[in-house]
Amino acid sequence: MKFTLSTISKCSGRLGVLGGLDRLPNLSLATPGIIFHTKGGSIPHVSKEAMQHVCNEPTFLHVSISNTLHMQDAVQASRQTIAEFIAQNNCATLLFPRDPSEIPIPGVPEKELVPVYTRNGRRNISLEQYMTLVESFRPDAYVPLYDGDTDMNSSKKREQKSLDRTEKFLEQCLEWHRNSDALHSCSIIGPVVGGYNEKLREKSVEVLRKTDELFGGYLIDGLHMNGPSVTRLDGTALLPVVTAVCKQLPEEKVRFCFGSYDPMLVLDMVAAGVDVFDTSYVYLKAVQEHRALVFSFDVSSTEQHTTELDTTDSQWAEDFGPLLAGCRCYTCQKHSRAYVHHLFNTREMLGPILLMMHNLHHYIEYFKTIREHVRNDTLSVLKQHLAGQKSLPPYEPSKEEKVLTPAAAKNDLSEITEDDKQSKKQRA
Ligand SMILES: [Zn+2]
Repeated sequence: MKFTLSTISKCSGRLGVLGGLDRLPNLSLATPGIIFHTKGGSIPHVSKEAMQHVCNEPTFLHVSISNTLHMQDAVQASRQTIAEFIAQNNCATLLFPRDPSEIPIPGVPEKELVPVYTRNGRRNISLEQYMTLVESFRPDAYVPLYDGDTDMNSSKKREQKSLDRTEKFLEQCLEWHRNSDALHSCSIIGPVVGGYNEKLREKSVEVLRKTDELFGGYLIDGLHMNGPSVTRLDGTALLPVVTAVCKQLPEEKVRFCFGSYDPMLVLDMVAAGVDVFDTSYVYLKAVQEHRALVFSFDVSSTEQHTTELDTTDSQWAEDFGPLLAGCRCYTCQKHSRAYVHHLFNTREMLGPILLMMHNLHHYIEYFKTIREHVRNDTLSVLKQHLAGQKSLPPYEPSKEEKVLTPAAAKNDLSEITEDDKQSKKQRA
């Protein structure tokens, strides 16, 4: 994995190109940019065919262990790489332990293990299990096992522990990587941890820089515990940490930072020096909150804009205009607010599909605009434009959705499994 830095602006971050993958030498990603958040290796609700209406070029995929762990045996038996197995051979696969959209499932921590939150509940995995999985998946890049379970409320002790454990895991993973034939063309991404403690962050970067030549880029993690709460982070505590870490990291390496950050916070993180984000924000808005992203990033527009549109709101029932006037996405070209509102009201599967397509398109266009503003060093103008827009009240889950807390979901799942067993028996 190779990162080419083209511009460092005074106050608006940096422009670059990520590429140079062994398997896909011609694939590149302009940064600041996004990699696509997936579940089980697929972009949620958007099939490969539907995705061609959103973006018809091969892309970079964020694949997480939490929702692909159950596929390990099948991938291994097929002798295919994860990219081949999910039929995305022309896309780059980047493997990480966690899914940025998932809510952590509480449990007892275990010394040598790291928890991942799978569809069957919390699973503690060992370094050996993790590296065996990486070897069977053979992604284009992966992050060694690490402990990034910290947020702004973590104690100093927890932050220190995350650093110590990560250091230990890193050493063992690098050793494994050096001796592995299967992994010789996989790039490694270095995990920077240490919570909100600047000294520990410094130490974490120091440790990684000892083996800098082994890393294709760096992942800044341990800032939050993932899930919808990240959309409400305001950045007061987060930005100084991210800025300090970016200053210490080598300029010529790409910096990843994942989570469902608010589009305004993304701008601050770009200015701080982050290069690559993910699309879990789009997913949480479309699928969990049923909201279309309609914030304006055209700084010449003087109209009063709203940042989101609640598709379940009955005021759209007879509105035959597109979700967003002027949007060139498939959904806005073909369908109306009234139709999307009807789909969500009747719980049609097409609802989240059309909304994901619009939101992804809008987010891709947003990042194109961000790059323009970085090039012209005018990111602050874009931020000011966004700050003046009206936002909807925070999303409140309905009664039924509230019931589906992780613990309840787990029970539901065991019930489903029981039901499955029953129906299988019946079929037999
Ligand atoms: Zn649209």
